[in-house]
Amino acid sequence: VPMPWWPDTKWKQMVSGEICEMCSDAHLATNPYSDLIGSSLSSYTRLSRNQSQPGYSIVIFRRHVSDLSELEPAERASFVEDVVAVSKAISSLFVPVKIDLLMMGHLCPHLHCHVFPQYQEDDPHAPVDLNRQERSLTHAAQQQRLESMRSLIRFT
Ligand SMILES: [Zn+2]
Repeated sequence: VPMPWWPDTKWKQMVSGEICEMCSDAHLATNPYSDLIGSSLSSYTRLSRNQSQPGYSIVIFRRHVSDLSELEPAERASFVEDVVAVSKAISSLFVPVKIDLLMMGHLCPHLHCHVFPQYQEDDPHAPVDLNRQERSLTHAAQQQRLESMRSLIRFT
């Protein structure tokens, strides 16, 4: 059964940041969804716990804005540079065939970009589903992956 959009009052609180999960946990070393790779002046970069797509990361803008259009050109450029730096690190470590960049926000309207690699075995016609498979690494392997990413990304 399709659900309608969020109740109006709740959505307004989500957009304003009054209620926002990312404001509470984007900076933490670890949270239920991801681990912190590092941070720049404009963003926090996190490695997803779900590594079904090796390297899958999320770049989260530092302060609460709900849309790219709300940023000044310089901070928008800086955010995009962070996304590019993460993409390059994933490319170099895991050699995907394509990296999809997804900026959505219908579940959490705090500006963020999913850096979602696609691999040779992935069906390009399948609908995009960030959680179509679940694969968590061991703690040690996740830590090692975080270190590999950190060694390749120069945060500004
Ligand atoms: Zn927020």
